[in-house]
Amino acid sequence: MLIVKKFGGTSVANKERIFNVARRCIEDYKAGNQVVVVLSAMGKQTDVLLDMAKDINPKASRREMDMLLTTGEQTSVALMAMAMDSLGVPAVSLNAFQVAMHTTADYSNAKLKRIDTERIYNELENRKIVVITGFQGIDKYDDYTTLGRGGSDTTAVALASALHADACEIYTDVDGVYTADPRVVPKARKLEVITYDEMLELASLGAGVLHNRSVEMAKKYGVQLVVRSSLNKNEGTIVKEDTKMEKMLVSGVATDKNVVQISVEGLENKPGVAFKLFQHLANHNVNVDMILQSVEHGGKQDISFTVTEEDADIALETIERHAESSLKCDTVNVTRDVAKVSVVGAGMMTHPGVAAKMFEALYDCGVNIRQISTSEIRVTVLIDEKYVETAAQNVHEKFSL
Ligand code: ADP
Ligand code: ASP
Ligand code: MG
Repeated sequence: MLIVKKFGGTSVANKERIFNVARRCIEDYKAGNQVVVVLSAMGKQTDVLLDMAKDINPKASRREMDMLLTTGEQTSVALMAMAMDSLGVPAVSLNAFQVAMHTTADYSNAKLKRIDTERIYNELENRKIVVITGFQGIDKYDDYTTLGRGGSDTTAVALASALHADACEIYTDVDGVYTADPRVVPKARKLEVITYDEMLELASLGAGVLHNRSVEMAKKYGVQLVVRSSLNKNEGTIVKEDTKMEKMLVSGVATDKNVVQISVEGLENKPGVAFKLFQHLANHNVNVDMILQSVEHGGKQDISFTVTEEDADIALETIERHAESSLKCDTVNVTRDVAKVSVVGAGMMTHPGVAAKMFEALYDCGVNIRQISTSEIRVTVLIDEKYVETAAQNVHEKFSL
């Protein structure tokens, strides 16, 4: 079998953990499998590098940021190959350039386009364990790129697909996908299996256990994933296509604190206003999430929307630059201490009343809703950040998860 095994930052945070991972990979290797290992940077190294850059130049270009951040993964793969070698197993570390993993040139948020497999196959053929940097790629200018925070999961899925792997295992610091982040909702329960669609919603709504694009890619290319712990041997959670499994009304609750609400007030109420506003933001690559347009008041209207913290300053600068000339709005308000709480479940499509039940749970604990958005299989509310734990726990309880 060809197995792709991905280990996140906490799983390789120190010497002991590196050897733990090395041994787990060697077990598979000695059983006769071909083993490809994808690693993240050690512990919180990516955050450390981000802080270092901020200290030197808070407005550093994204290209230089990627050049810096890719060093984190390069450190862990080299150390891992050394650890395996010291245990008597031949291993080779490869970075995105050596593999070659080709991406778009969107620094800090690049998309994988193509992975060359020749070098990897050659090394596997020579009975080596191949240890590959997650999170990074190279673009058409031969520059390093990164895939966005948490992107090593996507590297692993892309490799599993390109290599037609028999298994793709994502090892992390929890033993699977839970009904909510166990750090936020201590009563959360591990799921045995979850569909791609549900996992994609959860991941996109803040369940950082999997990078959302890794789930998107797994669905697209039919890569079945298992999420499990690197610290114990418990069975993990399988992420796969919807089969005949019983559709759960709600399979999980997700929370996301990386949210900023921006309200543009006193806009003209006429066609083209929303178009102009969101076009300006799109031109600056700002991803807009929840959108709310108010009813008309005195010939004017307000539009509120949410963005991530990383995009908030650029969104504000953009709006302020165009406030007088193009948008003709009165004021722009920013609220940074907000968070999203969402419930996700494929069963919602056929069962009414999920939104009402969620709102009741929030009412029970006195949490006010600022904004609401829904899809076929989720309901999301925007609330004050300080209530996020209470809200998530109450919603979790209400749905008996
Ligand atoms: P890694 O470094 O291994 O990629 P991450 O920190 O990216 O690990 O993801 C694992 C973390 O995801 C867990 O520690 C947990 O706090 C968080 N998490 C959020 N939502 C969930 C969920 N629904 N199930 C499990 N873990 C979750
Ligand atoms: N090291 C990167 C990050 O911290 C990528 C990853 O861990 O998946 O975001
Ligand atoms: Mg991760």
